[in-house]
Amino acid sequence: MTCFRHVILDRDGVLNYEAPGGYVTDPDQWVWIGGVLEALGQMAQAGLRLSVATNQSCVGRGIIDLQTLEAIHDRMRRDTAAKGVFFTGIHFCPHTPDQGCRCRKPAAGLIEQAIRQSGISENQTVFIGDSQSDLQAGRAAGIAAWLVRTGKGKNTEAALKDGLIQGISKENVQIFDDLGQVCAALLATA
Ligand SMILES: [Mg+2]
Ligand SMILES: [Zn+2]
Repeated sequence: MTCFRHVILDRDGVLNYEAPGGYVTDPDQWVWIGGVLEALGQMAQAGLRLSVATNQSCVGRGIIDLQTLEAIHDRMRRDTAAKGVFFTGIHFCPHTPDQGCRCRKPAAGLIEQAIRQSGISENQTVFIGDSQSDLQAGRAAGIAAWLVRTGKGKNTEAALKDGLIQGISKENVQIFDDLGQVCAALLATA
């Protein structure tokens, strides 16, 4: 396996449980998926750079404002800082699908931003997600994209195995139960 130095993480369904209704609209609704904080801590300690790349169309839809999104991300930063984890960047797309922006996954924009900010090359970067659009965004950006079974991951895995995700073949996707397993795989080669 490649020795990766930069891990870009989708947010909802990878780091935290998706909120009822689909969007986290308040910092108090944030619930870490079990084992994630510990996994982030181990990856940070191993010297891996960590970024987040998340679609947040709830902003463009007027469900939350940017200030609230920042408050949610502040809460995330506080929790991770307590574990010695500092994200290189938290990159989000606030747009709705019909705005046709270049950042919303499955487009490559957010991943490209994260790579630029990290200073780590594409071939040493891996993207971790739970949705079809995550796998497609990784492919669009030309980097490895792995799937976790948390969040929408089990449905995505089924679609992948049935050949239903446009542009993605299952041979190219490594699948893990959760971020803890991803962490173990990355640290085995670090
Ligand atoms: Mg997700
Ligand atoms: Zn966008």
